[in-house]
Amino acid sequence: METADLITLEDDCIQLLQELIRIPSVNFGEGKGDEEDVAKFVVAKLAEVGIESELIETGPKRFNVVARIAGADTTRPGLVVHGHLDVVPANAADWSFDPFVGDIKDGYVRGRGAVDMKDGDAMFLAIARSWARTGYVPPRNILLIFFADEEAGSSFGSRWMVANRPEIFEGYSEAISEVGGFSVTITGGHRLYFIETAEKGIQWMEITAHGTAGHGSFINHDNAVTKLARVIDRIGSHVWPQRETATGAKFWGKIAELTGEKYDPSRATDLLKHIGGAARMMGATTQNTANPSILNAGYKANVIPGSATAVVDGRFLPGFEHELEETIRQLVGQDADISVQVRDKALEVDFSGPLVEAMSAAILSQDPEGVPVPYLMSGGTDNKALSDLGIIGYGFSPLRLPADLDFFALFHGVDERVPVEGVKFGVRALVNFFENC
Ligand SMILES: [Zn+2]
Repeated sequence: METADLITLEDDCIQLLQELIRIPSVNFGEGKGDEEDVAKFVVAKLAEVGIESELIETGPKRFNVVARIAGADTTRPGLVVHGHLDVVPANAADWSFDPFVGDIKDGYVRGRGAVDMKDGDAMFLAIARSWARTGYVPPRNILLIFFADEEAGSSFGSRWMVANRPEIFEGYSEAISEVGGFSVTITGGHRLYFIETAEKGIQWMEITAHGTAGHGSFINHDNAVTKLARVIDRIGSHVWPQRETATGAKFWGKIAELTGEKYDPSRATDLLKHIGGAARMMGATTQNTANPSILNAGYKANVIPGSATAVVDGRFLPGFEHELEETIRQLVGQDADISVQVRDKALEVDFSGPLVEAMSAAILSQDPEGVPVPYLMSGGTDNKALSDLGIIGYGFSPLRLPADLDFFALFHGVDERVPVEGVKFGVRALVNFFENC
């Protein structure tokens, strides 16, 4: 790409990011979200350069945007490039600036969505616009999608699209999206680029203890609240063994190699001290987790209820779903019932092949000292829904970040912001990536 075109593209991306942040597309959960204005903005920005798109309404104020960009070789399976348009709520009182200001201060674009994931949306949108302006044709077909509702289970977004409009995805084999490609500076100043190739699975469980209801002044040896408390204590304090996944072996092996440590799969967390703020998430990728998150019992001080319930947020590593189920069953024992409320699979793909090589090369084209590594994410993305159609998804929306920035704290966090130069780096890396995708 010509230098002048690249500068136009970078500036367009930053401007789009600011404008996207200023449209509060907050997802409050339980069906209460609003992607209408932001989706219509995306459609208009595509139309401005002559790209046709389809606006797909999936519920009141819930909208997805789909655009097809023909590649040079239309016989090759295409690449899905997807972002989500919703953001989590922001409590303005906790922030040091207006969460939807979308301004630039001290080199950062500021506001809710700056890292999750209006930055990625802006990059994908700006690149598609630059292709239209310059007449560039990518090597394979690109399906550009902006989903609703990623932050609340995707039932108005990727889940809906996969269930109701699967034909849209016909002819597409791979995907890229959020939470990958960003840099993390580890001990020794090595700059790693985390490419997401795996995601933990989700199992949310309701645990209900039953007992004998009665007067609060009597002796009660069958108190549901007491039983539930025992169960929840056992689950919450359980120490899960560290387990090795194929992705974890590559990730922790590389950390050990670069820091001169030994890698012991049963003690991978010994290496957390080397990865700064990334330790916040990465510790959870060495084991299953089950965190009690909701308690519900009783209604009056002097009435012992007949039952008590808790919700436990369980997450399992790829290949360790049964360990989670078995262990929870043992910890609960005879004291309570378990009912699974939400379950979603874990994902894991190999860190190899032409697309992975294109991602690694794209990073190195902009940062020759960078070290691309695969990583397992503790949460989930819309790649889970797409995997139901056999589409292999990666997290790749590159960002070069300052060594001292606690990036993971910004996701759903207070004072969310992203460095302007980091986003411009991402745009350049993506341009390179698409040329070789
Ligand atoms: Zn996100």
